[in-house]
Amino acid sequence: MRTLMIAGNWKMNTTPSEAATLVKGMIDGLNQVEGVDKVLCPPFVSLVIVSELVKGTSIRVGAQNMHFEEKGAYTGEVSPLMLSGICQYVILGHSERRQYFSETDEIVNRKVKSALAAGLTPIMCVGERLEENEAGRTTEVVTRQVEEGLRGIDSPGGLIIAYEPVWAIGTGKAATTAQANETTGIIRSTIAELYGKEIAGDMRILYGGSMNAANVAELVQQPEIDGGLVGGASLKASEFVSMVEQAARVSK
Ligand code: PEP
Repeated sequence: MRTLMIAGNWKMNTTPSEAATLVKGMIDGLNQVEGVDKVLCPPFVSLVIVSELVKGTSIRVGAQNMHFEEKGAYTGEVSPLMLSGICQYVILGHSERRQYFSETDEIVNRKVKSALAAGLTPIMCVGERLEENEAGRTTEVVTRQVEEGLRGIDSPGGLIIAYEPVWAIGTGKAATTAQANETTGIIRSTIAELYGKEIAGDMRILYGGSMNAANVAELVQQPEIDGGLVGGASLKASEFVSMVEQAARVSK
């Protein structure tokens, strides 16, 4: 049995005081929900305040990115060691990082390795662009991203994968439940080929891309989908709490 997870990716939104207000608006609601792992991923500058505010609750915190080196002359970067004292999770390889910051599969792979070495749980994002989807290349693209992202990793630990079709992120156009379930299933088969059926059966694979309170239940009901990585809808406290509550009511 895989515990469902709903993780909120706040992206480059909220000042520290806005982040504090947002988290205060969700703490009670989220903390009351059992049976779903709840993760908030605020911007770096708000990680400490959000972590402090959720202390003693069942809510966990993640970063949205990190550098692969532990320390050094990388002005402006944040290392896995810096994060490991503050949060448990880190989103890696988000399509916005790949698109706007030229992150390659190789860079994602180095980050995944460093995160695991630092005791952080990576949420590794994969997903095809619109033109790749339209060209029927979804399987090829996500399989390559998974294989390359995990290259040289003997044991992925509790690593989580988020399947996020790029054309569905922030567009209001979510994948159909059938499409999302099919591709998460393909990702699970790739994991089974790399690590065996048991690890594949235990690994959580989330869906991300315009998930909201109206479609979360249907999406997480799918047998292959173990929750969601939520962007826009995670910035609205009541909607995000509702999504987590709905996920908790889904029995698979
Ligand atoms: C995301 O940023 O990971 C995401 C899925 O965004 P949205 O929910 O806004 O599509």
